[in-house]
Amino acid sequence: MNAVNVDPAEVAKFSQLAARWWDPQGESRPLHDLNPERLAYVRERCALKGVRVLDVGCGGGLLSEAMAGEGALVVGIDMSQDLVDVARLHLLESGRQVDYRCLPVESLAEAEPGGFDAVTCMEMLEHVPDPGSVIAACARLLKPGGRLFLSTLNRTPKSFALAIVGAEYLARLLPRGTHEYRRFIRPSELSHALRDAGLDLMDVSGLHYNPLTRRAWRGNSPAVNYLAYAVKPR
Ligand code: SAH
Repeated sequence: MNAVNVDPAEVAKFSQLAARWWDPQGESRPLHDLNPERLAYVRERCALKGVRVLDVGCGGGLLSEAMAGEGALVVGIDMSQDLVDVARLHLLESGRQVDYRCLPVESLAEAEPGGFDAVTCMEMLEHVPDPGSVIAACARLLKPGGRLFLSTLNRTPKSFALAIVGAEYLARLLPRGTHEYRRFIRPSELSHALRDAGLDLMDVSGLHYNPLTRRAWRGNSPAVNYLAYAVKPR
């Protein structure tokens, strides 16, 4: 059934970070630093004002809140109840509105097919047992013409060196064990999963990050972190 597509050990790793999620100097620091570029990528391809957006694997709500700030009507889902609690609490501080829920994307797809103009799923696919099932559920949740935005880590020697050895062991930017190399996803694999879900892949862009300067920028090479954009045909 649906709930099988969750790795409890993966979710537990993120739950441990819940209390410090909104601390820009904490373990979620790279997500804070990447967030403006991710938002720009979405905003350039989808007018956000007044549209229904689903943020899958929303964590403590960094992107969900940013999109709500652009006027989107955002639903955020995550399988970590601790993170959903943190995300809800943070709304009291920010004054923004997001509907946060703790349920699997596959269940929401059964309940609200065609319910969203756009779906985002950032830095989450590399933590689930069956990313194809998440993509299929996202496709189902989109209206015809709806847009899907993804980001994940590529499986290359460079991503192993930077995202695991560099970030977890040398720079100690992320807790050890945050990422597992074998779960990283090549753009070709993502492209297959999107096609199987009936979506048209429109763009793949590299998402680069310098942890020393804390600068994030987009570029051509998807060798480490990358963004992808797909559309559900009308
Ligand atoms: N998308 C957010 C958080 C990324 S961290 C951001 O980029 O800011 C990865 C998130 O995926 C964590 O919040 C974790 O709890 C969540 N997650 C892991 N497995 C999941 C699953 N099967 N379903 C939903 N969320 C999941």
